[in-house]
Amino acid sequence: RARSDGHGVFRTFEADMDRKLREKRALEQDLRSALAAGEMALHYQPQADATGEIVGFEALIRWSHRTRGAVPPPEFIPLAEETGLIIPIGEWVLREACREAASWSKPIHIAVNLSPVQFRQGDLPNLVHSVLLETGLAPGRLELEITEGVLFDDFSRASATLRRLKSLGVKIALDDFGTGYSSLSYLQAFPFDKIKIDKSFVWMIRKNAQSSAIISAMVGLGRGLSMNIIAEGVETLEQMNFLREHGCHALQGYLIGRPQPIEHYAKEIGRAAADSRVAGRLRRQ
Ligand code: C2E
Ligand code: MG
Ligand code: MG
Ligand code: MG
Repeated sequence: RARSDGHGVFRTFEADMDRKLREKRALEQDLRSALAAGEMALHYQPQADATGEIVGFEALIRWSHRTRGAVPPPEFIPLAEETGLIIPIGEWVLREACREAASWSKPIHIAVNLSPVQFRQGDLPNLVHSVLLETGLAPGRLELEITEGVLFDDFSRASATLRRLKSLGVKIALDDFGTGYSSLSYLQAFPFDKIKIDKSFVWMIRKNAQSSAIISAMVGLGRGLSMNIIAEGVETLEQMNFLREHGCHALQGYLIGRPQPIEHYAKEIGRAAADSRVAGRLRRQ
């Protein structure tokens, strides 16, 4: 009996694997046509300095699948990386974000996420250079967010690419700081302009004394290396106050603002109120 049970469990397991694989292939098929079908869009999440002023935005990709609805980035970015589709998608994100930011009246920065795959394939500095020329965005306003994984792959190659990017005048931010596996030595080997404390640390604030110690050490480390420190995932006033008190330069999170279509932030980017749906809605009230 035990044997037949085991067999049954295995069959369900097999069927489950099969279904997951088919589902993945179907999603991959749809991902191939998503850009051309106009299903991709960018949302923008504000970043505030210690005084609460909006100093920049992060561009975050959104996929509205025609039948599934919103597919979250953690579900399709890995698939895009596996299939190489991240190359055209990443290029579209970069161009779209730079074009958008170039139209703002306020010269605040725009942060764009880069996949490690974009680092390995193709000529990233050339792409960034031509997108800047094409869109007219001042290089100093573009901030490229990378993760430790980029340096982990092939340090000397990645660091050469990063240096070429920096020579264009763009800023480099280290995303999800504290979640990687590498040693801290790369922090002195490569001069990041900014480090982003991962939201998992922010969410531990006040839960225990250790987490508070970790946050203050991260801020101290960044400050000691003359890097800007931003914390992501800030959701509560308590987290905000703690981070400010510990010398964090900037904050990003639902407390400041959620990722939204740019029209939602017309005032923050200095766009005429007439263009703003929010302002329009407020006036009508
Ligand atoms: P990330 O770059 O670390 O972005 C921060 C993520 O945290 C975003 O999730 C954002 O919506 C979310 N977030 C921000 N503040 C809060 C908060 O206060 N509470 C909570 N619960 N969440 C918050 P999202 O948009 O789902 O993106 C997830 C990840 O997907 C990003 O993490 C990034 O690694 C990747 N991603 C998003 N857009 C792109 C893109 O255009 N290109 C690439 N290569 N990756 C992207
Ligand atoms: Mg990011
Ligand atoms: Mg992050
Ligand atoms: Mg993250």
